[in-house]
Amino acid sequence: MLDKVVIANRGEIALRILRACHTLGIRTVAAHSTVDRNLKHVGMADESVCIGPPAPADSYLNIPALIAAAEVTDAQAIHPGYGFLSENADFAERVEQSGFIFIGPRAETIRMMGDKVEAIRAMKAAGVPCVPGSGGPLSDDATQNAKIAREIGYPVIIKASGGGGGRGMRVVHTEAALINAIATTQAEAKAAFGNPQVYMEKYLENPRHVEIQVLADGQGNAIHLGERDCSMQRRHQKVVEEAPAPGISAEQRAQIGGVCVAACIRIGYRGAGTFEFLYEDGRFYFIEMNTRIQVEHPVTELITGVDLVREQLLIAAGGKLSLTQDDIVLDGHAIECRINAEDPDTFMPCPGLVKRFEAPGGPGVRIDTHVYDGYKIPSNYDSMIGKLIVHGRDRATALARMRIALSETVVEGIKTNIPLQQRIMADGGFQAGGQNIHYLEKRLAERKDKGMGLG
Ligand code: ADP
Repeated sequence: MLDKVVIANRGEIALRILRACHTLGIRTVAAHSTVDRNLKHVGMADESVCIGPPAPADSYLNIPALIAAAEVTDAQAIHPGYGFLSENADFAERVEQSGFIFIGPRAETIRMMGDKVEAIRAMKAAGVPCVPGSGGPLSDDATQNAKIAREIGYPVIIKASGGGGGRGMRVVHTEAALINAIATTQAEAKAAFGNPQVYMEKYLENPRHVEIQVLADGQGNAIHLGERDCSMQRRHQKVVEEAPAPGISAEQRAQIGGVCVAACIRIGYRGAGTFEFLYEDGRFYFIEMNTRIQVEHPVTELITGVDLVREQLLIAAGGKLSLTQDDIVLDGHAIECRINAEDPDTFMPCPGLVKRFEAPGGPGVRIDTHVYDGYKIPSNYDSMIGKLIVHGRDRATALARMRIALSETVVEGIKTNIPLQQRIMADGGFQAGGQNIHYLEKRLAERKDKGMGLG
């Protein structure tokens, strides 16, 4: 077993990792920026190390400072959480070269999945269903590109191989617009990601976002933990997530889950991971794999009873997967609402002093947050300040619990998106379930135009 882990992250996920470590008797080191001295997990950790000034580039993205934090505290391993360096192959490599354990997949796996053309190629070879597309990077041959698009059928989407965070994509509806769109996306991709390579896919018009959670030990064993539906999005950012996905049958789950498990074994995947799919007309289309713990992991934990961060730690310690596929039995329904410090109407971030905070409670209610009375939210980081997650024997029960839990949650001093989450929970379309990835934005636009969307 590991005996000391550096937590190379902040906020709610840092606290989540600390709790999993302490449950296993692992000591913790909180690596934090100067402005984060008062974070909840810093006070609870066995040790803490200041790794630099508030700007992420100087602290949470500062590779030498994080490795030094492990060295000075004599820690064994580094947990990157999500965001920041969690999917940075160079970081994983340097952690391991420095003699520490990176809690995640091998660097080469991260590198492969970070290059979407490579990822799609590997997944296709492993039998994972992908979106019909160019199957490789686009060349500068305009005639050839037009031929590929015609074969796929318009609309198509041009995507950057090195893209991420919903950036570096362009939808093309006609052949007349194709050449320009490819050139523009290439130029943008070069500027934003340092890699001009782009590829082409069929643009699916009304898909849902459904993703499969996996765990693998890198020693030939892998399982899946069912799916999550993350279709409630704004600007490609997830707002609400749930598990299981409405309308997905046990047979579909077993089939696509089995495909993901086989792919994990084939590539020697190690750790927790997520296969992201677009789901349309009963079919799954792989878009990318996330090689880390995800924000929305708790909905899977609530319906499976598995502590995913604990499993990450056990795998990193070199253990064989302790769970088999038969151990994974889905129970009830879980919903997560992301709580952001932002204006619920304009979506402008709203950092500042939390004068009063009161958490909800009751059966099936979980809150993952680092916020407390008197906590000052800095302006340097993401606006997500917590996640409210509920569980019930069925979706209707979970929904009812979420409505009550949102109404019980008190955050004074700053604005939050809780009113927006309340409108989503009260929305007939959301209550019906199974909406596509454009639904939330459409309803928000209606609200703006006619003052009638979302309640
Ligand atoms: P990123 O790594 O930037 O998140 P993804 O490949 O995961 O990029 O795509 C992000 C989002 O873009 C998807 O969730 C979906 O909303 C949209 N998208 C990507 N590819 C397609 C496609 N082929 N058809 C329709 N929408 C797509």
